[in-house]
Amino acid sequence: RVCTTFRRILSTDTIWRRRCREEYGVCENLRKLEITGVSCRDVYAKLLHRYRHILGLWQPDIGPYGGLLNVVVDGLFIIGWMYLPPHDPHVDDPMRFKPLFRIHLMERKCATVECMYGHKGPHNGHIQIVKKDEFSTKCNQTDHHRMSGGRQEEFRTWLREEWGRTLEDIFHEHMQELILMKFIYTSQYDNCLTYRRIYLPPSSPEDLIQPGLFKGTYGSHGLEIVMLSFHGKKAKGTKITGDPNIPAGQQTVEIDLAHPLQLPDIETLRDFSELSRIVLEVQEQVRREEQEREQRQEEEEHSQQAASQPASPLGGEGAEGEETAAGAEGRTQDKAPASQPFVLPMGVISRNEDYPRTCRVCFYGTGLIAGHGFTSPERTPGVFVLFDDDRFGFIWLELKSFSLYSRIKVSFQNAQAPSREAFDEMLKNIQSLAT
Ligand SMILES: [Zn+2]
Repeated sequence: RVCTTFRRILSTDTIWRRRCREEYGVCENLRKLEITGVSCRDVYAKLLHRYRHILGLWQPDIGPYGGLLNVVVDGLFIIGWMYLPPHDPHVDDPMRFKPLFRIHLMERKCATVECMYGHKGPHNGHIQIVKKDEFSTKCNQTDHHRMSGGRQEEFRTWLREEWGRTLEDIFHEHMQELILMKFIYTSQYDNCLTYRRIYLPPSSPEDLIQPGLFKGTYGSHGLEIVMLSFHGKKAKGTKITGDPNIPAGQQTVEIDLAHPLQLPDIETLRDFSELSRIVLEVQEQVRREEQEREQRQEEEEHSQQAASQPASPLGGEGAEGEETAAGAEGRTQDKAPASQPFVLPMGVISRNEDYPRTCRVCFYGTGLIAGHGFTSPERTPGVFVLFDDDRFGFIWLELKSFSLYSRIKVSFQNAQAPSREAFDEMLKNIQSLAT
């Protein structure tokens, strides 16, 4: 509809080849295509451009369990990789991944979607882009997921893949129950899944460590995926995978960067009651500061109402300036390079005995605990322990347990947040959808 020159340009395949490479990083030998009669223009228009909205990082909606999916361009395929934590409790082991679906151009007409679930190879599937940040997959041949040995064999295989062991190996009765529950619950979703977009946290030079995704130990729930992000004087750990107690999307730990904790010497640290005393003291202090802040705010509001209009913005500005100063001060303290010996107090349970024995800095924090089904959730006091750039821990005071977190060292593609606002919005959304 434009002109003959433009039409000629559109049918020049080398131009399309360059677009495929520059926009989507397809470096594959595109000549292979010629054999099948598919042009680079087809690949660009019918595969890459058509499915560009599903590239990136996603969280499947599997009730409380969540998960992590990365959709990437891989050669002449678009592949959805599901990332799974390593086997419990080996938190430093690399992530495992398996393909859930793939899309490719087998012929000129349109792209083919294949479900990769199960052990019988790729089969017919379907993808629907619901809205900008949501899509769903559907399997049209779920008989490919079934095993000849029936549910028993499916469960045993799932257990071996997910947990790296047999049910007899797991002596803990409560853990057996949780595992069986997860199998029954998640297998309802094998024919249809909805995904919501998630972003990696934006980073800034002032951050304590690089934000990102971590694997963490969660007692009998096994290893879970947690996202660490920084928000001024606070750091948040948000669950990307979850469990029936604290579902995916909820904020599992919150770190108060304005309140560093001075740990006692190693001998005193072994005494749980001593650590407990230190933490509860800080908790009390935080409470007092919050009350004072609220009081100040109330007083300011009163005086603002009383004062003439030009005075009010000044008041607000002053209070904000004060806060940033305190935050900056807190961070200078954190950056102190000193490392100190660390040991878990007696009676604190850890899934992993080989946690680091030195740490850089500790902060007061709170951890979310709840009953089964996310009943009566409560933020309880705890200790955030920074070990190094890639590992941190959290001591849950009330549970007398310890979680160890280790960085997920995978470079996920198309996962950066377009802005800090978009990231904050995403966090709020996955939290509200969690219950
Ligand atoms: Zn399938």
